Amino acid sequence: MNRTCVGCRQRSQRADLLRIVSNSEVLAFDHQKNMPGRGAWIHPSSDCLNLAIQRNAFGRALKLNKQLDSSGLVITKEQAETMLAKNE
Ligand SMILES: [Zn+2]
Repeated sequence: MNRTCVGCRQRSQRADLLRIVSNSEVLAFDHQKNMPGRGAWIHPSSDCLNLAIQRNAFGRALKLNKQLDSSGLVITKEQAETMLAKNE
C-alpha cells in the first residue's frame, strides 16, 4: 500500500515511511503505526520533516485548521533507522 510523504509529496511504501499523529494539537510519531485517527506519512528524513513543517502540511493531512506544535518532531538519523527497522 503506497502513501504520499507530506514533505516531498513522493509516494512510497508504508514500510518506508513514518506515521505522525496529533495528540491535542501536539504532533508526535506513531511508532507502532496503529494509533486511531488520521495519520500523516513522512519519510524519516529531516529534509522531509522541515518541508512539511514549513508548508503546514501536517495540518492539512490531519484535517486540522489549528496551529500544530511540531516541536516534538525532531528526528535523528539513528531514531529514523530504529523506527524503520521495526517495520518488518
Ligand atoms: Zn519525503
